[in-house]
Amino acid sequence: MARRAGAAACGACGLGRARGHLERAVAQLEAARLAWGLWADDIRQLAEQHLGISDLLDERVLDDPGYGRALDIGGPVGKAVTAAVAALRAAGGGEDCGGVCPCTAVKAQIGSPHP
Ligand SMILES: [Zn+2]
Repeated sequence: MARRAGAAACGACGLGRARGHLERAVAQLEAARLAWGLWADDIRQLAEQHLGISDLLDERVLDDPGYGRALDIGGPVGKAVTAAVAALRAAGGGEDCGGVCPCTAVKAQIGSPHP
């Protein structure tokens, strides 16, 4: 879970508000990924029952179209989590942000040439 960092360092800036939304989005998307995983496990069990598979290492279940579709649904869900975590990090939040809101640094760069 991302800790709330940065907003206290600068006061309540607009980027801090964005960070709050992103922190909630990350939490929601991580919960969605977890729920998807539990659902996909259920689908795998149904497919294994249908195919008469009892060995957990039996990979024939991967050829089942229903289970394949369930796995395909998880791809975009995982990408959404990754994208939200990246957005939070870019906005100065997340686990390794250092607790400093980028807003002051961004304002200091206004008008300066890019490196
Ligand atoms: Zn700020």
